[in-house]
Amino acid sequence: MAGYTPMMEQYLSVKATAKDALLFFRLGDFYEMFFEDAITASRELEITLTGRGAGMEERVPMCGVPHHSAEGYIARLVEKGYKVAVCEQVEDPASTKGVVRREIVRIVTPGTVMDAKLVGDASNNFIVGTASQGGRIGIAACDLTTGELYLTSFGQSSEAINNVLNVYRPSEAVGDEAAIAAIRETLHPAGRVLSTTVREDAGTDKLAEQFPEERWDAHESVRQLAVSRLVSYLEETQKRSLAHLRTVKAYDTEAYMSLDAFTRRNLELTETIRDRSRKGSLLGLLDRTRTAMGARLLKRWIDQPLLSREETERRLDAVEALNKDWIKRKELRDELGEVYDLERLAGRIAYGTANARDLNALKNSLRRIPAVQELCESLGAFPLDSLAQGMDACEDIADAIEAAIAEEPPTTIKDGGIIRSGYSEKLDELREASQNGKQWIAELERREREATGIKSLKIGFNKVFGYYLEVTRANLASLPEGRYERKQTLANAERFVTPELKEKEALILEAEDRMFDLEYETFIALRDQIAGQMSRLQRLAESVAALDVLQSFAEASAERRYTRPGWTDGAGYDLLIEEGRHPVVESVNENGVFIANETSLTEDGGSILLITGPNMAGKSTYMRQVAMICLMAQIGCFVPARRAVLPFVDRIFTRIGAADDLVGGQSTFMVEMKDIQIMTEQATSRSLIIIDELGRGTSTDEGMAIAQAVIEYVHHHIGCKALVSTHFHELAHLESSLSGLRNGCMAVRESADGVTFLRKLVPGAADSSYGIYCAELAGLPETIVSRAYSLLNDRDTAPVAVAQMKSEPISPQAQTVRETAATGVESSPQSIMQLSLFAEEAPPAKAAKSTSADKVLDKLRKLDVMRMTPMQALEWLNDARNQL
Ligand code: ADP
Repeated sequence: MAGYTPMMEQYLSVKATAKDALLFFRLGDFYEMFFEDAITASRELEITLTGRGAGMEERVPMCGVPHHSAEGYIARLVEKGYKVAVCEQVEDPASTKGVVRREIVRIVTPGTVMDAKLVGDASNNFIVGTASQGGRIGIAACDLTTGELYLTSFGQSSEAINNVLNVYRPSEAVGDEAAIAAIRETLHPAGRVLSTTVREDAGTDKLAEQFPEERWDAHESVRQLAVSRLVSYLEETQKRSLAHLRTVKAYDTEAYMSLDAFTRRNLELTETIRDRSRKGSLLGLLDRTRTAMGARLLKRWIDQPLLSREETERRLDAVEALNKDWIKRKELRDELGEVYDLERLAGRIAYGTANARDLNALKNSLRRIPAVQELCESLGAFPLDSLAQGMDACEDIADAIEAAIAEEPPTTIKDGGIIRSGYSEKLDELREASQNGKQWIAELERREREATGIKSLKIGFNKVFGYYLEVTRANLASLPEGRYERKQTLANAERFVTPELKEKEALILEAEDRMFDLEYETFIALRDQIAGQMSRLQRLAESVAALDVLQSFAEASAERRYTRPGWTDGAGYDLLIEEGRHPVVESVNENGVFIANETSLTEDGGSILLITGPNMAGKSTYMRQVAMICLMAQIGCFVPARRAVLPFVDRIFTRIGAADDLVGGQSTFMVEMKDIQIMTEQATSRSLIIIDELGRGTSTDEGMAIAQAVIEYVHHHIGCKALVSTHFHELAHLESSLSGLRNGCMAVRESADGVTFLRKLVPGAADSSYGIYCAELAGLPETIVSRAYSLLNDRDTAPVAVAQMKSEPISPQAQTVRETAATGVESSPQSIMQLSLFAEEAPPAKAAKSTSADKVLDKLRKLDVMRMTPMQALEWLNDARNQL
């Protein structure tokens, strides 16, 4: 290091202790960065890169940001996944010789940002500690802003890791190399940046000190390791008390419904597929919470549907009571609306960043609790009763704050004005002294005016010069010589001091300083005293959050006419839904009409439903709605159906749509197969399986063969409830060979004006109609064809009114099909499907005249490309090519 200036040597030695962070090195009013850090930061923050002589020949790259605006820059870097080490001067430069001592006072990392603005009120920001040992993984997930800490462990598999991490979506992970590698490997490519730190510490001796109430020997060692690594990392980066991390919520992954990443995404539980927004997801729909902690808990509940019937029923009982009494619900919502984010307030108090306004917010929130309790108890539902009784309104804390803190304190805690008068005798004395001093000054002003005869003479104060007498230039001549000492010259006036004024000023300022110090000390003492009550506040926050989610369920259910689900858990484990709706599609349906549908998956009536129907008929909406209803029931919410009797499902497995995977760069078919593989491995007879467009990513023959084999596997080996849609109409024959399978299709009405999707699920397979059409194309005698159409039309439930089709001119493409069919070569059902849809879109007269190329061009012109997914665009392209 020889050759560098002492300051640069100091920089390098500090930097050596924070190699993986960008070091913000305090120099006067700036934080400076040097070397590689400067290059990175100037690029990421778009600030100028300069250089600084550092004692060596070459200048060192440097860039800097003013200290007062550093938080914004730090936030931007952290958001991009960097860690920032903040190094401050820890000695007063005035009283030091040589280089001032500097130390890293905190390291801000993506998982430990305390800035609520950055994290968002309704979101958690989790950091996970992790460990791998003997084929098991332990995960400890902590939100430092709220003090929540969840702990679990499971047998190592990418599936299980994904399931757990999907709940927390951590922004940072710390753990041993193997665990970190496993996490990195399994993260979905579309997931957010994960900052990782490898830590191999094996000591778990700090656990008892940090969590005195926890019996650590009862926890598996992989869990202990995960927590202790997390805690030691937090201590190292935060360099301050972790007083609000006192309780651990340990759970087994088996306690919750298993939902893989695809299912969460496909069902759009907490964010939409398209733009990852909360709006348009189930979470967005059900969120009628009034508190930020409620909003966060709601997300957890949606992410972790219950497997305990008892617990679910408890939630439903509460929702029912709240749902029925809208007046009390409204009152409760009003009360909750006045409750601040207790968790984050508690976090700030423990962390030592809460100001006097935060304490007042805490007090005001606590004052609401008795009314909340009373309302809960008056609803007469056991779960609400016990929730209310379990709430500790922490009146002593509210009283202590009320006694001490002024009504409207400033946000700063060092400049006084925060403690009420009457709270501290000493403080009142100092206040009086300062007050008297100020009166004395006013008196002096009067006296000086009299003595000098200058009416405009005034006494003012500023931070640099203290108290002064100000005399305008015009009046200077009236000022007697000698007693007045010139201090400052302004354009129009001169400022003076007198020995008398100086003397009094010293007394006043001293009293003020002492007053501010005392206010500060009093405030800190109170804050620390409240910090000692952390676990009480956290428990209260938890209950309030739960209540808020329950009322949110009740509110959403009332607004959208949801009903309480019932359960079937006999041997058959039936699933019955009357007039079921898709909660989200229903809510965004532009024309406001959503067609409700029936679902019946029963032991006797068929557990597997095979759905056919053209694109856009409503198949996937229907299947998703069944999954949504099951899921909503198991988070304890009412469901969008006239009546639902559901089995308690242990897992919802979905394979829906492929458009998004295409973006991820994986072959659609491969993704589908991987999903199916997971399903075969994990699904049990108590699962719900939903597969949309099974087997579509490969050739017709292969796709159909695989689809059939998969359906048979589900039927014979899994035996769970399943909804499968396919465009292979031929698969309908499975109904005769698989006793537990029924065909269903989405009804479509075709007429001369085009096709109307009825969105109604009806028994039977869609190919019945196309079958007759196909027969006609194949050249069957007219008598047979018209007889078949009339028979079909006689049936009320005929999914497709195809009479008109008969008279439609056959397009050149249809001719092709007729020819191939006539030569005995089987035409693919796909081309027949496309044909019927094709006929729907091109007006018959024009279709007859124009060539197929014209038609493709015509369609191309009308194509609304911006509203298509990449997959739909590909499909369109493929169709168009087939038509040429
Ligand atoms: P498919 O899976 O058969 O291609 P979708 O389920 O994607 O069809 O439905 C296509 C569109 O039809 C959806 O975007 C939705 O707006 C509308 N839709 C689906 N089901 C219904 C319904 N039951 N009532 C009203 N509109 C529906």
